[in-house]
Amino acid sequence: MKQISLLYHDVVRGHASASGFPGADADIYKLEEANFSAHLSQIAKLGEGRVQLLKKSAEFQAQPIPILFTFDDGGVSAHEPTASLLEARGWRGHFYIVTERVGQPGFLSADQIRDLHRRGHHIGSHSHSHPAGFSTLTWEKMLHEWKESRRILGEILGEPAWSASVPGGFYSREVARAAHEAGYTILFNSEPTAVVSQMGRLTILGRYGIQRQTSPELAQSLARADFFPRAAQSFTWNAKKPLKKIGGKLWLSFRRWFFKKSN
Ligand SMILES: [Zn+2]
Repeated sequence: MKQISLLYHDVVRGHASASGFPGADADIYKLEEANFSAHLSQIAKLGEGRVQLLKKSAEFQAQPIPILFTFDDGGVSAHEPTASLLEARGWRGHFYIVTERVGQPGFLSADQIRDLHRRGHHIGSHSHSHPAGFSTLTWEKMLHEWKESRRILGEILGEPAWSASVPGGFYSREVARAAHEAGYTILFNSEPTAVVSQMGRLTILGRYGIQRQTSPELAQSLARADFFPRAAQSFTWNAKKPLKKIGGKLWLSFRRWFFKKSN
């Protein structure tokens, strides 16, 4: 069972600081609206029915591999323009909320979260306070982050949240265990993989990260489950040996592709 999840953050019109967390580190992940629209156009070319929504059972069709749009942090841009742009194509997204920030400047209000939910988008937890180095927290603190966020989303939506995404990509088995203990059944991390894994009742899904400068063509390649772009995110230079083993010709064309993209 495979799936391709894309990890987006905010979609902004000029002022990156208007939505989500402020600062240069966060801005790297905020796409200009025109670029995001172009991403959607490219991905639409992959055909009907590819973009899907999570089901509680986390059962996906085998072919074609489903594409899931996820958006972290709960910046106010999720409501406008992100959700509207997805809806214009008949698609829905997964929005992961930092519950401590709900209603604060630059972040979604409870009403906007309810509205997204009513319009068919998926709402999940991105922890309560988005602590730095989530995987380094004590067990009690991790559990509190997941539980408190789940409680608040439950109050907002009138039903318990069952999916979550790990803040900052600080994933560990302990982080997953805490999410499981807090009652979630789906956990997104930021591992660039299409492989779905399981820990007890918890299904763990990787995601391919999208940055401000990610081109529509690269987003489409990731969504199409092309080998080379996904390999570029998956392999560090230290781990290039397996590719070399596959064969000289394939390795050379990967290297050509990689350098072209890196320049
Ligand atoms: Zn985040």
